[in-house]
Amino acid sequence: MPDLRDLYQELILEHSKAPRNYRELTTPDRKAEGYNPLCGDRFTVYLKMQGDSIQDIGFQGSGCAISKASASMMTQTLKGKTQTEAQEFFERFHKVVTGQAASTNGHQELGKLAVFSGVSEFPMRVKCATLAWHTLQAALEGKQDAVSTE
Ligand code: ZN
Repeated sequence: MPDLRDLYQELILEHSKAPRNYRELTTPDRKAEGYNPLCGDRFTVYLKMQGDSIQDIGFQGSGCAISKASASMMTQTLKGKTQTEAQEFFERFHKVVTGQAASTNGHQELGKLAVFSGVSEFPMRVKCATLAWHTLQAALEGKQDAVSTE
């Protein structure tokens, strides 16, 4: 059995205690709500777009350390990226947290987000780690309904 403590890397703890971009944007172009009923994580993601690029991004809500750190690092990573780049990051991130990344390439391209690779050992936590990303995707697609991981 992998040790759950291994999952809570320093970087994850640090981001969960002091999440980056943890704020509501005053005039967001898009926003979406996400909910993970398994854990009780609930976040709203706000986006300010400039053409196809994410000019500004913020989030608010509450959740476990994994979900909050993932949201925090996601906003840091995706600010200034295009919608297509954000989608590619999400696909890579999803592969890494579900243990489908074939090589270490996926980890390298993810940069700091690779710290979440330990999540693949804990299926319950995959939904925590990906909640903010699903919510972001819904916001980018302009969906109004709250997304749920169920
Ligand atoms: Zn959670």
